[in-house]
Amino acid sequence: MNLFALLDAAASRFPDHDAVYLGDRRLCTWVELRDRALRLAASIRQQHDAGARIAIATHNRPEIIELMFATWAAECVVVPLNYKLHPREMAQILEDAGAARVFASSAIGAELAPITTVCTEIIDSEGYSQRFAADPSAPPRTDPSTLAWLFYTSGTTGRSKGAMLSHRNLTAMAVAHLADIDAPDENCSLVHAAPMSHGSGLYILPYVLRGARQILPASGAFDPDEFLDLCGQHPTASAFLAPTMVQRLVDTGRSRPANLKTIVYGGGPMYVESLRKAISAFGPIFAQIYGQGESPMTITGLRCAEHESDDEAILGSVGYARSGMEVAVLQADGQPAPLGEIGEIVCSGDAVMSGYWQNPDATRATLKDGWLYTGDMGSFDARGFLTLRDRSKDVVISGGSNVYPREVEEVLLEHPGVAEACVVGTPDAEWGEIVVAFIVGAVDPAALDAHLLQRIARFKRPKRYEFVDELPKNSYGKVLKRELRASLAR
Ligand code: AMP
Repeated sequence: MNLFALLDAAASRFPDHDAVYLGDRRLCTWVELRDRALRLAASIRQQHDAGARIAIATHNRPEIIELMFATWAAECVVVPLNYKLHPREMAQILEDAGAARVFASSAIGAELAPITTVCTEIIDSEGYSQRFAADPSAPPRTDPSTLAWLFYTSGTTGRSKGAMLSHRNLTAMAVAHLADIDAPDENCSLVHAAPMSHGSGLYILPYVLRGARQILPASGAFDPDEFLDLCGQHPTASAFLAPTMVQRLVDTGRSRPANLKTIVYGGGPMYVESLRKAISAFGPIFAQIYGQGESPMTITGLRCAEHESDDEAILGSVGYARSGMEVAVLQADGQPAPLGEIGEIVCSGDAVMSGYWQNPDATRATLKDGWLYTGDMGSFDARGFLTLRDRSKDVVISGGSNVYPREVEEVLLEHPGVAEACVVGTPDAEWGEIVVAFIVGAVDPAALDAHLLQRIARFKRPKRYEFVDELPKNSYGKVLKRELRASLAR
C-alpha cells in the first residue's frame, strides 16, 4: 500500500469533481490531479532513485499537494520544511535528511540556494512546468513499512530530529481521523490555514481519500477574514487550526459562515476559557486532537459532540485514546499510574513512527518496550479522559509553533553582553504561550532582537526580556525554571 492509493481512489470515484482551488479559482479535477502527480513522479524518477528525500520549502500553495503524491508515486520520501524557519535552519534540515532536491518558492529558494549544496528547484520556473511533459508513471505498489515522510520536529538540544513516518503510519492516521474526528465526503472541503508542512499537510490524506476539495487561501497563509470568506464560498468546510488561530477567528467578531462545519484544533494547549468563547461565537463545531510528529495527530482526541458538554474536566482534557491507539500514563518506575495520578504519557499503535532519522540514541530514548514516550505529563480520569498537566520537555508552544528554550538560550549566549540566559514560556491569552528570556548581563533588548533575527526564526524570539542579577539554581547548579515561571505568574 502506497499513499498514492488515496489519490487514486478519489480520481477513480470522483474523476470530474473539483479537487484543488486557489481561493475561489478552480485549478483541477481529481483525474487531472492524479495525472499531474504521475507525470511529476516520472520526471522525479528520471533523476532520483527510490528512497531519495525530496524536500518542499514554500508557504501554503497548491503545488504542495501534487508534489507530495508525486513523491510517493515515485517511491521517494517527502520532507516538508516549515516556511517560517530561518533559511539557516532549513539548510540544516536539508543536510540532516540528506535531501536530493528541494522544491522551493522563489522567495525561499533565493535565500536557500547560496547556503545549501542541495539542488534547489524553483516551483514557479519553466523547468518545473516542463516536468509535466513526461509520460505518467504507473501507480506503484509499495511495502507499507516504507518511509514516506520525514517529519522534522525541533530537538531540545537545538538539533532538529526527523520522525520517520511510513505509508502505514500515515494510513493509520488518516483512517483514525475519519473514524474519530470528522467524516467528510465528496461534497465537502478542507481549507488549508495552518502550515501544510506540518499541521494542515497531514490532513490532506483523509480528505483526499474521501474526495473532499482542497482549498488554498490566495494569501498562502492565515488571515482570519480571508479564512471565513473561503469557508463561506466552499461547501461543508473543515480546517485544522492551532489554538491561537481559533482565538484570532473569535477576535474578528464575525459569526460562523453557514458552510463552516468543523474546526479541528490541537498542537498546543487550548485554555477552557478560550474554548468556551470560541464555542459561544461559532457553536459546537470544534474537535480536538492531541498528537505529535512522532505519532502524527493521533494519540487522543475529543469529538465535536463532547464539546457540547459544559463539564470543565472534559473541556480541559485532550479527550480519550484514538481508534487503533493504546495510550497509558506511566510512573517513573514504568508501572501504570493510578487514575488521577500524573505520569508520562506513552502510546503505541500503527500511527507511531519507527524512529528518528539517523539518530539511534534519540530513538532508543523515545521508543521503549513497545511504547512511544511522548515527553508529556498527564493523568487519566475514570471515564478515560486524559488531561495534560505539564510537559517534561520544556518546549514553549507560541502561536502553534514550538520553541525550544535551549536553542534560543544558546543563541542569546552568543551575544557578548549576555552572561547567562534562561528561556521559559508563560501563558498568554493571544499566543497560548509567549517566550520570555531571563538575562544576566547588560545589553539593550533591541540589540538582542537584532542579534536573534540574524540567527533564528522570528517566531522564536522572546516577546519579553527580564533582566536579573542572578538565576535561581539548585545545589547541582541547574537553573530552577519553575521558579522563574512562578515569578512571571506573580
Ligand atoms: P509537534 O510534534 O510539533 O506537533 O508538538 C507536539 C507537542 O505539542 C505534544 O507533545 C504536546 O506537548 C503538544 N500538544 C499537541 N497537541 C496538544 C493538545 N491538544 N493540547 C495540548 N498540547 C498539545
